[in-house]
Amino acid sequence: MRIICTIPESTFLEPVHTNIFYISTVVGVMSCLVIVASVVIGKLGTKRINVFASISKEIARGNFTKAVPFTDGDEIGQLGRAFNIMTASVKRKIEQLKYLNDVTVEIYSHIEIEKLLQDLVNISRRIIDAEMGVLTLLDEHRKNIKYFKVSLPNLLEHCQIKEQPEGKGLLGEVIKKGLTIRLDNITDNPHSVGLPTNHPPIHNILGVPLKFNNTAIGGLFLANKANNERFTLEDEELLLTISYQATVAIENARLLEATHRLAITDGLTGLLNHREFHRRLADYLKGSERYHYAVSLLMIDIDHFKQFNDTYGHQIGDQVLKTVGDTIKTQVRAVDACARYGGEEFGVILTNADTSQAVMLAERMRSTIFAYPFKYDGIRSQLSISIGIASFPKDADNIKALVKRADEALYSAKDTGRNKVCCYKSI
Ligand code: GH3
Ligand code: MG
Ligand code: MG
Repeated sequence: MRIICTIPESTFLEPVHTNIFYISTVVGVMSCLVIVASVVIGKLGTKRINVFASISKEIARGNFTKAVPFTDGDEIGQLGRAFNIMTASVKRKIEQLKYLNDVTVEIYSHIEIEKLLQDLVNISRRIIDAEMGVLTLLDEHRKNIKYFKVSLPNLLEHCQIKEQPEGKGLLGEVIKKGLTIRLDNITDNPHSVGLPTNHPPIHNILGVPLKFNNTAIGGLFLANKANNERFTLEDEELLLTISYQATVAIENARLLEATHRLAITDGLTGLLNHREFHRRLADYLKGSERYHYAVSLLMIDIDHFKQFNDTYGHQIGDQVLKTVGDTIKTQVRAVDACARYGGEEFGVILTNADTSQAVMLAERMRSTIFAYPFKYDGIRSQLSISIGIASFPKDADNIKALVKRADEALYSAKDTGRNKVCCYKSI
């Protein structure tokens, strides 16, 4: 028996239609969600990329104040972090280049070596951001330390490094052998580094030689990198660059100093020459007018020197001139000026000294020369000097008159027997 039941097609297809409807709806909704999400994510991503673009433009304009605000999370966050690190590094490099440019401008504007050296160590400490800086320069024979300049921040100025290093230990290796040092953890023995005993504590040090013509002439040192960091290879290279510039500037200043010294010095005696004597006299008189102190002028002449030359010859005469010059110089203070005025005549300017003080000093000079054991060919010879004194403003109110009055006093010493000191007396 066959039962034939007829199910309407609609009944059969309805669940299928319902499912298709649901499936289409879900697919539709999901597609919409995906589209919306893509748009949102896309927008967000673009927004962050726009941040990179706008900050890059600022950096290109030289504005380093802005940083990428998202620095963690996804890849763009990581990129943001790397971008900020790169920006900081570029900023530091630009600052260093600017400072290096400053170094060049600064150091070539100096001709005075003391100031140049101090500036060099200050600038180096600032560029590399270290707590202390020291610059040492050897003397012309490259044996002893001639200049020693220290740079400390205001906070540390109480730790004055008075004692200069002897050029031993590691410092010596830099200064004398021309090596570069970069050391961490220097806590124990400062002598191993070559530091003076009273040196403030140092933790790490960077030292480069100052080399001229491949020979070390000194060293530039930095100690204790800021923020407890260590000196890097980058710092070392930067300090070396500074040292190259510095060496040229130092040699220029030295040459200039030597030329200047030659221009103002008398070749035989090493005293000031006639022209410099007049320049100093003008300076001293200006000081006297301004600060109201007396300046005394001594004109000194060797007695019967022609006769001495005739007896012993000019070469021995020259040695005597040198000895007399040295003796005069040792009697005066560093602030006074001694010159070879000409031939066998000398001029001495005593600052802040009235006539009576000048007489005391002149007497000492005269008696020292008279007692000096000049000895030639085994024969002891005695020499004497005559000295004329005039004081400013008591005896004269200008340079020309002062020199004239001191000369007159000298003539009077000669006229009245030589080997004596005479002061100008107005008649
Ligand atoms: P008085 O006591 O009057 O000063 O006699 P004096 O012989 O010293 O003076 P005078 O002016 O007659 O002679 C100066 C001499 O100084 C002449 C010269 O031989 C000598 N003299 C000048 N300059 C030099 C020099 O550079 N070297 C040497 N060796 N002698 C010099
Ligand atoms: Mg003479
Ligand atoms: Mg003379």
